[in-house]
Amino acid sequence: MKGLMQQHPLTLTHFFDRAERLFSSKEVVTATATGRERETYGEWADRTRRLAAVLDTLGISADGRVGTFAWNTARHLELYFAAPCSGRVLHTLNIRLFPEQVTYVVNHAEDEVIFADRSLLGLLAPLIPTFTTLRHLVVMDDGKGDRPAIEGVEVHDYEELVGTATPADFDVTDEDAAASMCYTSGTTGNPKGVVYSHRSTYLHTLGVLTVDSLGASERDTILPVVPMFHANAWGLAHAGVAAGASLVMPGPDLSPKAIADLIESEKVTVAAGVPTIWMGVLGELDGRDTSSLRAIPCGGSAVPKALSEAYRAKIGMPILQAWGMTETSPVASVGHIKSTLADRSDAELADLRASIGVPSIGVDARVVDPETLEPVAADGEASGELQVRGPWIAREYYDDERSPQSFTADGWLKTGDVASVDGEGYLRIVDRTKDVVKSGGEWISSVELENELMGHEQVAEAAVIGVPHPKWGERPLACVVLKPGAELTKEEVLAFLDGKVAKWWLPDDVVFIDQVPKTSVGKFSKKDLRAKFEGYELPTA
Ligand code: ADP
Repeated sequence: MKGLMQQHPLTLTHFFDRAERLFSSKEVVTATATGRERETYGEWADRTRRLAAVLDTLGISADGRVGTFAWNTARHLELYFAAPCSGRVLHTLNIRLFPEQVTYVVNHAEDEVIFADRSLLGLLAPLIPTFTTLRHLVVMDDGKGDRPAIEGVEVHDYEELVGTATPADFDVTDEDAAASMCYTSGTTGNPKGVVYSHRSTYLHTLGVLTVDSLGASERDTILPVVPMFHANAWGLAHAGVAAGASLVMPGPDLSPKAIADLIESEKVTVAAGVPTIWMGVLGELDGRDTSSLRAIPCGGSAVPKALSEAYRAKIGMPILQAWGMTETSPVASVGHIKSTLADRSDAELADLRASIGVPSIGVDARVVDPETLEPVAADGEASGELQVRGPWIAREYYDDERSPQSFTADGWLKTGDVASVDGEGYLRIVDRTKDVVKSGGEWISSVELENELMGHEQVAEAAVIGVPHPKWGERPLACVVLKPGAELTKEEVLAFLDGKVAKWWLPDDVVFIDQVPKTSVGKFSKKDLRAKFEGYELPTA
């Protein structure tokens, strides 16, 4: 017997329609170089429809790729819906990729048009001659930057195009059609393309809206500090529109002061960003009214326990850790504390918040031996590869022969993350497979060492890498950034760690550096750090 319910397609036009019809007076605020711009969802919807008509006028193919090279802004949000709701495919370009990677992804995705913020033209313009399929460049004037001479493509002004267009009707009925794509930054080789469908985005959005995930609602004012050009701003741009929440777009200024100002003056309830953002903002919070905040979702790399606890001490609210990847849309697990565990001690709860929580509704997760696919013991100790599956998890990469390496024969995504799982189902990221320090056949978690190091009150940042060792294969090297004015010796650092981690985990050496190199999205770049310390000789005991 079959169910007898309507097969209504799950497409993004539904979210668009809701915002247009039900929440037309709610606002999307954008911080720009010249002040804050405010747009209602009513205005946003009208402009989004006009923008879709612009894509027709420019002659963009029915499923043509529409590139964006932009900060988090209301215009970017117009593109987020105009492209997919008119059948095109939004392609968010990571503005911080290496130039040759930008060229690769634009050509691989076959972008026909790129919408770029004026302040970013300096980065993009020199690459335009390397783009093979690009026909149009549309400049979005964000009040900053030069207008370099550009040849080889037609250059347009966003406001001129949108201002003269007639609003289009939306009609997308194929829920499996591609809605958007995003390339993973890729630590080795070229970036890999993830293609989201309307259906996967719809379901991921509903997932993000659930209270046990990020719980975005109409009553929220959401500040996605996490970029719209990377992993869909963790679904918050779609969820904001779907729910009719107020959105606060930070634009190009992601300095701690600018973010703290926005939180305070716009009465932000949900502010999401990577740990490095919240490390910076922490020092800006003294004397500010942050009482509007109800959640600080944070992920993309491990959230140090000390950071979460510092927020709990300062504003009475710890950080909400989440885990995900470009391939998982991205939200796949969130670190809420189960009601049955709420009576644990403060120290135990802090420890639980250093996990990535349990898989979100809609996501299956398993921790297995990567060779045999046997599950590891759910004892919080044994580790294996974290693998996930679900309706918003990629099943393959776009036109990429490397795809098979990342998926199991039984259809799970191999995340490349080493994790453990406890009896309650809480997952803990031990490390990325390639970052784990392999000492004498045993694994040392660089993440856990970093966590402990960053718990030292004089340490601003710390990263741990494996360095070749004649006897053990690899041994940990701790790279420590001290807070301004702090003084600490190698011996003091090691003494601090002693007793907090197993003796054989203690780093063989500690070096003090000015800053930890960061990746395109603000994560610690272990690759760059390893390159910096290539050939480093550890002291012999
Ligand atoms: P990349 O960092 O490779 O550019 P992604 O943004 O897709 O691409 O990163 C996904 C990876 O980020 C995960 O596989 C994991 O290693 C890391 N990550 C994400 N969230 C967390 C978290 N809460 N704790 C530890 N690592 C995380």
